[in-house]
Amino acid sequence: PARLGILGGGQLGRMFVQAARTMGYTVTVLDPDPDAPAAEFANLHLCAAFDDAEALRQLADSCAAITTEFENVNAESMRWLAQHTVVSPRGECVAVAQDRIREKTFFQQHGLPVAPFLPVTQADDLDSDLSDYLPGILKTARLGYDGKGQQRVRTAEEARAAWQQLGVPCVLEKMLPLQLEISAIVTRAADGQMAVFPIAENQHHQGILDVTLVPARVSTDLAQAAQQAACRVAAALDYVGVLAVEFFVLEDGLLRVNEMAPRPHNSGHYTLDATVSSQFQQQVRAMCGLPPAATDLLRPVAMLNLLGDVWPGAGTDACREPDWQPLQAEAQGFLHLYGKREARIGRKMAHYNLLADQANTAAERVAVLRDTLLQAAGRARKA
Ligand code: ATP
Ligand code: MG
Ligand code: MG
Repeated sequence: PARLGILGGGQLGRMFVQAARTMGYTVTVLDPDPDAPAAEFANLHLCAAFDDAEALRQLADSCAAITTEFENVNAESMRWLAQHTVVSPRGECVAVAQDRIREKTFFQQHGLPVAPFLPVTQADDLDSDLSDYLPGILKTARLGYDGKGQQRVRTAEEARAAWQQLGVPCVLEKMLPLQLEISAIVTRAADGQMAVFPIAENQHHQGILDVTLVPARVSTDLAQAAQQAACRVAAALDYVGVLAVEFFVLEDGLLRVNEMAPRPHNSGHYTLDATVSSQFQQQVRAMCGLPPAATDLLRPVAMLNLLGDVWPGAGTDACREPDWQPLQAEAQGFLHLYGKREARIGRKMAHYNLLADQANTAAERVAVLRDTLLQAAGRARKA
């Protein structure tokens, strides 16, 4: 069978490997961690770093196609690999998605509205009139995730102080009144054919995705507009693979593009159980030159992220696995554990998909199940 390669062996790598294996491919995972979650089902190739030239050469030699599971992969490495084998997504797409300044400029250039933003690469960028961007959020241009590398600022003085603290290229973005957040996950094949999964509604807690509901509680028109926007981004990037695009729905109903991720996305984990194909199968198909599979929703669903917080004693030697019985007892509930050795507060450890007649009902139920787990771990959620 053909061998596929992936840079990174975290939970996204693990779910990619699981999909690839059941589809008849073998996989080599490149990761510096011998306990990487993906290693359980793949041939793990330990590397010192993801730009380790010798490791990349061996991967290119042995794999028919290569992808990445994380967005901060060295774009140069992707470009180098592309000279030797099939690589998706392209290094250039990854480079745009990794840099908020390039990313937001790209959206704007393609007619997709974003929040008013100001690139900040030197101190005097903040000397001008900032009233269009305040109150706002100063976000690092690179390497931010789960709300890390962001600071809310109300005044120009606060913005300047925040930039001094961060000390790296940033964007100052106007704070928008959000009604809700949604995401679109599109798969684009090498020949340009595209398929979009149903729009997901995303609820965050302390900067981290908490619950995803599908279908999203938005109008059909708005859902279609978001799907079309995601397709436009994928086509404009000449993208091959799975691309996630996050949007804000404003209080007045308008749509704003927030950011994209050049890979399967946490908000697409519902596709493991609730759609005809999953985002990981789509990634395998795209890199193997196959057309995208069907993306129809089988049942409404809520996906619950399970962080280390629900592990009793998380972060200590006395850490124990939660009792999953209440989740497993649900006839339409599906638990996905990532096989991580160590549970820590805030660390993504697993997720749970619950199908129901209505997404709302599923969301209410998973919130109850989550609170039960938190309580059993001796923790409770602060508002
Ligand atoms: P991710 O983990 O999704 O990659 P991130 O750290 O890259 O997150 P963003 O998605 O840009 O950061 O922002 C995190 C969250 O902060 C958003 O999901 C949203 O709830 C809030 N937020 C970000 N920008 C704005 C804005 N302009 N107006 C209002 N809320 C915002
Ligand atoms: Mg992000
Ligand atoms: Mg985000």
